[in-house]
Amino acid sequence: MSPASDNALTRRRFLQASTVAAATTAVTATTGAAKPKSGPKVRTVLGPVDASELGVTLMHEHAPAIDWAELFEIDPNPIAPVRKQMLDFTVKLLDRFHQTLGTGQGPGAIVECTPIRVGRYPKLLVELAKKTPVHVIACTGFWCEAMAPQHPWALALGRKRDGIKRIARLYIREITRGMEDPYGDWGEDFTKVPVGIIKCATSTYLRPSERRCHIAAAIASRETGCPITTHTTDGGGLEEAQLFLKHRAQPGKVIIGHQGNLDDRTESESHEYHRRLVGMGCNVQFDRVGHAEKYGNKKIARQVKALVDSGHVKQVYFSHDNGPYFNDDYTGAKGTGKEWKITESDYTVVTTGLVQEMKKLGITDKQIHTMLVENPQRVLAF
Ligand SMILES: [Zn+2]
Repeated sequence: MSPASDNALTRRRFLQASTVAAATTAVTATTGAAKPKSGPKVRTVLGPVDASELGVTLMHEHAPAIDWAELFEIDPNPIAPVRKQMLDFTVKLLDRFHQTLGTGQGPGAIVECTPIRVGRYPKLLVELAKKTPVHVIACTGFWCEAMAPQHPWALALGRKRDGIKRIARLYIREITRGMEDPYGDWGEDFTKVPVGIIKCATSTYLRPSERRCHIAAAIASRETGCPITTHTTDGGGLEEAQLFLKHRAQPGKVIIGHQGNLDDRTESESHEYHRRLVGMGCNVQFDRVGHAEKYGNKKIARQVKALVDSGHVKQVYFSHDNGPYFNDDYTGAKGTGKEWKITESDYTVVTTGLVQEMKKLGITDKQIHTMLVENPQRVLAF
């Protein structure tokens, strides 16, 4: 483990690092992935488990941290000074979610959607998972250019000849062998901590760097069976889905996220747009539950009801997109840990307020169980 101060991202180092990464990501896109012997499993950070062991699964959360510093080529905010506090606080929040679950709904699981080098600390996730009954499933993938530049490692890989294949090889390596260790140069060290999903993301309009990551995700998903989950930015879900399918990803493995507000870029509730996505065989995810009025429970429940009524209950997923620790101080880490913004993230809105609203609209307990428990079981096992 090298200290964070060794992490300065000079151009020379990132070129070096991407060369190392290319050499170390030696899994070819044609060798296929090693699957666990006993059939499909969900790859939690503590190892593979039977899908039936998950219970209610929140499909897009950030626990404990997001840190965009490296996107601006500055050092990440150190976690060491706040590590214990960070773990205790996040465990408390996840345990609260666990306590909302009834018989047949537990212990509960979260899909941790913080991608490569934006606050994804594999060993921290392992420690977190050991302290709560809630399962934690991590992701591979790079973030988009919506609110910050894409990570310079993704850009450096993508610009090379066969750039898309290089990105795909990195994803496949993380899926089959474990996540990159973010302490050190890019691609220098890998942990054995598994990932269970590929994260993809777009700005309002798909940018070239994002397109490369999407095609790479389709390749990696095809090769391994790993599902793909997306970030959209007020629209773009259909373009994402079309791109994945064009590159022969299985539609059932594609989850279009951040739905529920302006998904077709104009309508507050885009029922017809959602029907097009599920009509392609893809999944629709309402994963900003509890985020103010834009994603209020009544509004989300109406959109879910439309999908349930059109016979698509097996293609709907939920989450909050919450993260208790966030760093957006891009002026440079100061090393005290005080730069973290801490929010009282609530991981219980789906299982309490939203479930109530859905019931009011006549969505049955069985249908709610399908969406909260069975759909995640099916999509996350590979
Ligand atoms: Zn997110």
